[in-house]
Amino acid sequence: MKAAVLQAFKQPLVWQEVDTPVPGPDEVLVQVMACGIDGTDLKLLDGFGYTPALPFVIGHEVAGVVAEVGEGVTGFEPGERVIVYNFTTCGDCLPCRTYREQICVNMGGVLGAKDRHGGYAEYLSIPARQLVRVSERVAWQDSAVCCDAGMTGFHAVDRAGLRVGESVLIIGVGGVGSMAVQLAKAAGARVLAVEQSEAKADWARRLGADEVLYAEGTDIPAAVRERTDGLGVDCVIDIVGLTETMGAGINALRNGGRLVVVGYTPDFYPIEGKYLAQNELAIIGTRAGRKQDLIDVSRLMAEGKIRSIVTRTFPMEEANEALAVLRTGDILGRIVLLTPAGRQAMDD
Ligand SMILES: [Zn+2]
Repeated sequence: MKAAVLQAFKQPLVWQEVDTPVPGPDEVLVQVMACGIDGTDLKLLDGFGYTPALPFVIGHEVAGVVAEVGEGVTGFEPGERVIVYNFTTCGDCLPCRTYREQICVNMGGVLGAKDRHGGYAEYLSIPARQLVRVSERVAWQDSAVCCDAGMTGFHAVDRAGLRVGESVLIIGVGGVGSMAVQLAKAAGARVLAVEQSEAKADWARRLGADEVLYAEGTDIPAAVRERTDGLGVDCVIDIVGLTETMGAGINALRNGGRLVVVGYTPDFYPIEGKYLAQNELAIIGTRAGRKQDLIDVSRLMAEGKIRSIVTRTFPMEEANEALAVLRTGDILGRIVLLTPAGRQAMDD
């Protein structure tokens, strides 16, 4: 098979022939059709965050077809359409036993990031229990982005505990934010979004945001209070994670409000204990999502309750070009790579 291989950090990927993986016991060989790309991929390329042993294949938003099942696999047959849950978890620790496997204390591989080759390839092998069946009604690229953007957005809105009639400020309308805006709206919340350009503001409105505030030159907490009778929002979902965004988020909350932190950088935000205590604020971290979140968001996609966030596709052979476009930041929603088989399937 061919794969876009990371041979050296800070160097272009190399589209080259590599061995097709052989599924071990309880594993499934998946023929990749589509793989989304995002900021985590850029960090991997640059050697920040996860630093897998090289050569390595990145890519963690994978949709494809079951090509072959390993020994002992039941419940999947060749030809079935699947997406991949990224985390190889122990299944036995407290988080795993209580349906929070994304915070497994014995986390094994992470698809396309750690110990497990990812989706910038024609095939990958993965434990069967990480697969989720998807509908034929959903295009390959839209199924693919459920794996991270969709699942993470769904989990963030779930962690936020949004209820009908509440207000939420969503900071950052990239891939995850594009899903979060739609899901918060679907949950019945009034959605305020923060973005930087007119094009992104327009995109956020098209996804259902009631109002968009500009990050540049706007006092976000003041603008939020103006729009909420001086009270602030019930909830902030910060998908950026800079000192400025966390600070703006905390100061935009009503008394009793909650800040949900999805995005992160090396930044931190010092918060005064009195302000946190006396206003009964809650700060909630959220990591990617549970497998059930992935199942739920892919079902919502199949039911047409959320719209596509994919605005551009590239042949996988041109992964470097796609990543260069992503790096400019001048992209709405998500970019997805299509393998030769994926493009063939789209043409049929
Ligand atoms: Zn575990």
